[in-house]
Amino acid sequence: MDHLFMNCRMAAMTGNGYGLIDHAALAVSNGRIQWLGPMDQLADNDQSRAEQVTDCNGLWMLPGFVDCHTHLVWGGSRSDEFEMRLNGVSYEQIAKQGGGIASTVKATRGASEDELYNEALKRVNWLMAQGITTLEIKSGYGLDTATELKMLRVIDRLDKNTPVSIHATFLGAHALPPEFKGNSGGYIDQVCQEMLPAVRDQGIATAVDGFCETIGFTHDQTRQVFEAASDLGFDVKLHAEQLSDSNGASLAASFNALSCDHLEYLSRSGAEAMAEHDVTAVLLPGAFYCLKETQKPPVSLFREFKIPMALSTDLNPGSSPIHSLSLILNMGCTLFDMTPLEAIAGTTLNGARALGLAKTKGTLDVGKDADFALWDIQSPADLCYLAGYAPLKLLCIGGKAHVNRL
Ligand SMILES: [Zn+2]
Repeated sequence: MDHLFMNCRMAAMTGNGYGLIDHAALAVSNGRIQWLGPMDQLADNDQSRAEQVTDCNGLWMLPGFVDCHTHLVWGGSRSDEFEMRLNGVSYEQIAKQGGGIASTVKATRGASEDELYNEALKRVNWLMAQGITTLEIKSGYGLDTATELKMLRVIDRLDKNTPVSIHATFLGAHALPPEFKGNSGGYIDQVCQEMLPAVRDQGIATAVDGFCETIGFTHDQTRQVFEAASDLGFDVKLHAEQLSDSNGASLAASFNALSCDHLEYLSRSGAEAMAEHDVTAVLLPGAFYCLKETQKPPVSLFREFKIPMALSTDLNPGSSPIHSLSLILNMGCTLFDMTPLEAIAGTTLNGARALGLAKTKGTLDVGKDADFALWDIQSPADLCYLAGYAPLKLLCIGGKAHVNRL
């Protein structure tokens, strides 16, 4: 046994509830959870056998957070547009001046790999300090082969140079690049015939995402991307039903997608398809809030069909520049009426599920990776209720302590 953590209050997030153990201990060996349980089941000689013992002094231990949907590698800033809009300049006017996602694409293409890496590293460290141990990051601000591959290399460097477990997703079908204006079919052909094989050969991204929407790509174009991605062995996932019902969730489900994300306009038949194919619903209240949307995702349908709900920051420079998972947990409850248990499950076990990592991450269970956080709170619900307050005392990733304020 490498490390024994004693005297904590545990929410293991197992057994369809918080998995509470009031007076608990957890043992780590070789980066994994070797044992956990009530203190009174700890054998007398266990303490002496551990190389290191930490007294948690009654702090709460929960699984490390999994942020399963982000776009946190980007160039430039959109704060000037934010300010312009609030000074009365219209979206159309800003778009005409090259604003919106086009400005992020331009800045991302123009930025060096080191510049992108250094900015993104600050964001990863910021998230880690809030208890995040696993993170998904998408490409999708390059929209040409060279820049998409550059973004994925940056994501790979973040994974290798930080303790956080980072998973890369290729999002070439995010938006139409300016050079393909009026020719979305031509761009999708390039995504399928040129970018996807190059991304596969690069070997960093494991999943492929798309934006199926009236302002994104059509149902048929999304199918074309998914067919090419599946042929190359990628997992798929989809930005679906965010602004309208494009029937994207059913399409993604038919490809056994890991997740469908946003889902404000999901229909009953879409939910049925997701349930049938065991697809996780990823809810993103940050975008809902920033875009001042009013149509909420159908949480009651997810409950009815027992579709697991994940919850994520959607950290991106346009629709969700929100760097606080605490705020997102609160928004999941306040804006989408999730219970605190659902919100916390959404950022632990169901976040892991959305990334296909349920076997190794997301709960405190023997054999899983020793990724957990110690919190100075009165109950797990505080993590949702106390918006913006994240009193992290210790973060352990793969059995190693990385944020230690004990
Ligand atoms: Zn997104």
